[in-house]
Amino acid sequence: MEDFGEKTTSRGFNRATQAKRQTGSSIKPIAILAPGIEEEVITASMVFDDTQTTFDDGSEGGYSPENYDGYLGNITVRRAVESSQNIPFVYMMELLTPKKSIDYLEKMGVTTLTEKDENLALALGGLDEGMTPLESAAAYATIANDGVYIEPTFYAKIENSSGKVVFETSQESRRVFSEETAFIVKDLLTEPVQGSKGTATYCKIDGIDVAAKTGTTNENYDRWLCGFTPYYTAATWYGFDVNETISYNGRNPAGLIWANVMTNIHSGLDDASFEKPDGVQTATVCSLTGKMASGICSNTYEEYFLRGTIPDVCTSHDFSGENTNVVQDRIQTEQDVVIEPATPVTDGSSQSNTENNNTTNQSNNVQNSQTNTSNSTSNSAQNINESTNNTSNTNTGQSTNTSESSNTTANENTTTENTNNTDDLETSESDTSSETDATSDLQEAN
Ligand SMILES: [Zn+2]
Repeated sequence: MEDFGEKTTSRGFNRATQAKRQTGSSIKPIAILAPGIEEEVITASMVFDDTQTTFDDGSEGGYSPENYDGYLGNITVRRAVESSQNIPFVYMMELLTPKKSIDYLEKMGVTTLTEKDENLALALGGLDEGMTPLESAAAYATIANDGVYIEPTFYAKIENSSGKVVFETSQESRRVFSEETAFIVKDLLTEPVQGSKGTATYCKIDGIDVAAKTGTTNENYDRWLCGFTPYYTAATWYGFDVNETISYNGRNPAGLIWANVMTNIHSGLDDASFEKPDGVQTATVCSLTGKMASGICSNTYEEYFLRGTIPDVCTSHDFSGENTNVVQDRIQTEQDVVIEPATPVTDGSSQSNTENNNTTNQSNNVQNSQTNTSNSTSNSAQNINESTNNTSNTNTGQSTNTSESSNTTANENTTTENTNNTDDLETSESDTSSETDATSDLQEAN
């Protein structure tokens, strides 16, 4: 441990409990996904237009956040979670409102938000003061504990030499959202781990479901990994006390710490999955519109919904069909329609064309989806190349000022312990996917 210097202070600055840091994208699940699904302003399949956008936030010139790694056009919430696309999350925050988001965050135990945080930058973790690793872990544990917040504690009880309990902790707990909402968010958060474009694929644990979300801030000042399994929740932050760019060799160092600690403490545990409550409904949806699939939607997948929130049937493939991009164009030009769940994408008057043009529509859909696939493939190749280059860079090691903080919280009893795992970083499972996490458009940290 020579790289980290000698201990010089007792009860010094505790980065787990006292360091308020910008969160970047790791705030998205707790600030947007859980509150938005619970309030029924979003569903997992809702489609948002991921293109450069200036949002009206009341400021002169508006709010123009950027994606870190390109724009994907119309994508579902599920796809936006996978590679942490920023623009859809700002649309979602507009629908939810920052005020409602803050209400939920505070119910999840976050105490460090200020009135300046009531703006759209909250969506991307651009915070006035920031959040601590401990409060991040406790907020994520609310999802892991099926919607119930349980105040973290560092001890359970103290007994004297004869076994008499002289001190016992009491932990505040409260329900923040339903177990059905919690399950849908858990499942969405498996995308960064399992998806082909996932930002946290190195967090997989054999036989055990893992939900995880990365966070990155401007200039790479902060790296986060927040996530959980059916057994434990953990939040890791990596950075400097005084903002300085972190150099790393292609893999999120906070994520590597998370993966090492979590793989270790899960070794020998039984296989475990996130279990779907009976109240969650399943529907086949159209990937292009996020609506319930009709017989002519060719690009579909299974999605989870709260009861009563399954969208209307897709009616978007009813154009006469010379332009293969008609569907995409229409969705983009009618953005306000797409983000309103209750409003059909097209009016009913054109439905009579649907059956007549069935064959043509089918072929157009196939072409659209092929275009998407080839784009994805070329992106993938670029990522691998970048990753290879990064990996070959010399690891510069950590300077003595590098701070790491890891909080592991057992789900349901939330006994918390600080873990300083600085060893063994290189034994982690090798991962060729590069970090594609979005860099938030942040205010400067204090
Ligand atoms: Zn469709």
